[in-house]
Amino acid sequence: MKAIRRFTVRPVLPEPLRALSDLARNLRWSWHAGTRDLFRSVDPERWAAAGGDPVRLLGSVPGERLAALAGDRDFLDRLAAVAGDLDAYMTGDRWYQRQSGRLPAAVAYFSPEFGITAALPQYSGGLGILAGDHLKAASDLGAPLIGVGLLYRHGYFRQSLSRDGWQQEHYPVLDPHELPLDQLKEADGAPAQISLALPGDRSLRARVWVAQVGRIPLLLLDSDIEENDLIERGVTDRLYGGGSEHRLLQEMLLGIGGVRAVRTYCRLTGHAAPEVFHTNEGHAGFLGLERMAELRAEGLDFDAALEAVRAGTVFTTHTPVPAGIDRFDRELVARHFGPHAELPDLEVDRILRLGMETYPGGEPNLFNMAVMGLRLAQRANGVSLLHGQVSREMFAGLWPGFDPEEVPITSVTNGVHAPTWVAPEVYRLGARQIGTQRAEEALSVGDSDRWDSVADIPDQDIWDLRRSLRELLVLEVRERLRASWRQRGAGSAELGWIDGVLDPDVLTIGFARRVPSYKRLTLMLRDRDRLMDLLLHPDRPVQIVVAGKAHPADDGGKRLIQELVRFADDPRVRHRIVFLPDYGMAMAQKLYPGCDIWLNNPLRPLEACGTSGMKAALNGGLNLSVLDGWWDEWFQPDFGWAIPTADGVGTDADRRDDIEAAALYDLLEQRVTRAFYERGRSGLPDRWIEMVRRTLSLLGPKVLAGRMVREYVERLYTPAAHAHRAMSADAARELAEWKATVRGAWHGVTVDHVETSVASATAELGSTLALRVRVGLGSLRPEDVEVQAVAGRVDEEDHITDAAAVPLKPVGTPGAGGEWVYEGPLSLDRTGPFGYTVRVLPSHRLLASSAELGLLAVPSEAVAEAAGLLMR
Ligand SMILES: *Cc1c(COP(=O)(O)O)cnc(C)c1O
Repeated sequence: MKAIRRFTVRPVLPEPLRALSDLARNLRWSWHAGTRDLFRSVDPERWAAAGGDPVRLLGSVPGERLAALAGDRDFLDRLAAVAGDLDAYMTGDRWYQRQSGRLPAAVAYFSPEFGITAALPQYSGGLGILAGDHLKAASDLGAPLIGVGLLYRHGYFRQSLSRDGWQQEHYPVLDPHELPLDQLKEADGAPAQISLALPGDRSLRARVWVAQVGRIPLLLLDSDIEENDLIERGVTDRLYGGGSEHRLLQEMLLGIGGVRAVRTYCRLTGHAAPEVFHTNEGHAGFLGLERMAELRAEGLDFDAALEAVRAGTVFTTHTPVPAGIDRFDRELVARHFGPHAELPDLEVDRILRLGMETYPGGEPNLFNMAVMGLRLAQRANGVSLLHGQVSREMFAGLWPGFDPEEVPITSVTNGVHAPTWVAPEVYRLGARQIGTQRAEEALSVGDSDRWDSVADIPDQDIWDLRRSLRELLVLEVRERLRASWRQRGAGSAELGWIDGVLDPDVLTIGFARRVPSYKRLTLMLRDRDRLMDLLLHPDRPVQIVVAGKAHPADDGGKRLIQELVRFADDPRVRHRIVFLPDYGMAMAQKLYPGCDIWLNNPLRPLEACGTSGMKAALNGGLNLSVLDGWWDEWFQPDFGWAIPTADGVGTDADRRDDIEAAALYDLLEQRVTRAFYERGRSGLPDRWIEMVRRTLSLLGPKVLAGRMVREYVERLYTPAAHAHRAMSADAARELAEWKATVRGAWHGVTVDHVETSVASATAELGSTLALRVRVGLGSLRPEDVEVQAVAGRVDEEDHITDAAAVPLKPVGTPGAGGEWVYEGPLSLDRTGPFGYTVRVLPSHRLLASSAELGLLAVPSEAVAEAAGLLMR
């Protein structure tokens, strides 16, 4: 019988146990082992049954057990200690409070998904887990972030397999009352409500749930409320589902509704208002429009509001894969804005222009969220050094005339939250070595000094640790595999073989990730015979654990999974290769530590960063990966192996796969398995252990989310907060007017004549050239521009490769047509082919980059020729 109404009956905790409820509602338990140990001891069996979720645990413990604990002195003492620890964590000064300089009072961090814990399944993959790690690391550092996202009633799907290996999707219903969430309420106790105007006099309303992530509130908007019509109720139904209108409504709710939720939260709690808004990928980009509308109401025009918003906005792009970027039909966007819909004070054409792909090859009828993200943010970044470079090339068309190196997109390499991803066994060994307090700081702040002593851990301890982690994984795999086979319709009697699946002494390779085609799940199957030989090698076998979800609409990805599952089902190899369904955080936390090798073979350079390999490294796993994302930046032969790539082979994808797969097999046969199985005099694999040790002590501190968040604070949030503060309404108007003037007058800016003190084509190292340049500024003044000499080494095509810019100074008085003479010295500080050129750029104290306007003037060919601009 189906219930007509559903309630959640919450347990009433006896007074002495009240603190348990606070501990359960602050998600810090998800990265604090002491808190989890306390909950486990409430009722170990129910803890396991609740999947390690304290809210579910407390909902299931019988009253008698609670009464007994309420009288248990020992338990109450431990409860008081853990509660006291949380209290100190929440209120004490941390890294952020010890910084000098005026750091942002608050930063709002928007993301379409957040992976905090398996108990709050609001993520699909890397982007969400990164957002979760970002919030947790910010909490550990004491950085005042407010997270903003949506609460999806079905989260992302749960994956299982059909008998023949085809992905099945299930969408369990999540009841927010059973999740670690509190409703945001008005002073009178009524739920706070956010509302958006939709075309046709409809509206989209949402409530706001607050997840407490350590010190950080995470606001999640939920449209599944009675005040909405059926369609609007479904807006937050699931992550990355539905058609494009559905998606647009989700993103409007996230961006526009999200800002309104932040304002409401600050009003109700007294939290400081954000000075910086950070959008994690383009999906939340509408947040900039809502803030512009706020400023319009204060009397700024569109352009001034745009400048004011840009100053305090940071945009992070996460993918060079076009399918990862949201693009909407222009008309669809147009319908949802304007007088009869949202943000009536912003001109619809101006909004549309913000998302227009105004570069060669751009689609005029599409509205690109990443492009809008870049236009609404004065600061932008990619997520690894290589991805920064790829993004600068990819978006260079938005800054015409500039070399990709000068495109104002920097990079901050991702990191992972160690207290979440380091296995308790690894943490205990580290804490034994350097002390608990220091271990905690080393993991959260990412201060590398504290990692050095990890290098003193004895070989035997490292090797024993690795074996016990592998053994734990083997047991976990058998359990999950058995459950999967039952689900696929097998009876217990057929499953005896599962007790022999995987071997705790065999080299274990892990490969788990979402299944878009560029990640090449099945590259390892390219030559099945060679793979079989590796799996079944008499002396040096390998075993492989594979997991991953394909997007529900991606049949290609599902076919790849099926191919892999069918291979793994083969009785000849099924004890050495397994596919585990339903990859998620809970599995990941068991999987990474147990793998000796973490394999990653994307099509370079499409993996923007990748983070799973970092999590493996933090547990002493070695990486075996294509030089893409973070591995391109930090690979060292001590940390693992680089799979050679065939990027240059052109468009023949098949041939490229053949070459790269062959390289992978070679590495495994010749290098990896040998290093693992070869024993030194001590009876241990010395080289392998040394690699593990170096991975832990040298790579460990780099890959931390604490390091990443510190970089965001220092390089992006703080400059953005300063820019935001400098951008008073008057300053914003001034900057907007100045930009309009400069754009209008730029056609009159020219470089007319260049001369130097050296006539010959050779010069001596250490000498100085005197440069004299005549420029035309038209109606602009010298304070509107910077005239630069750009110099450096040149390549065969006379392209300056390591350019450095030196500003020149105006001398004398202008000619009648606005001609100015600029002069300055240029020192020849490099030997070899050297060249320089001269250029004029806009200059204003409120610009973050001189490329910001996408305007520059360089000598015409005739002028360059006359000046003999290149010397050799
Ligand atoms: C870390 C993580 C990811 C992201 O891994 P990539 O290396 O970026 O593909 C995806 N899913 C889960 C569950 C993770 O923990």
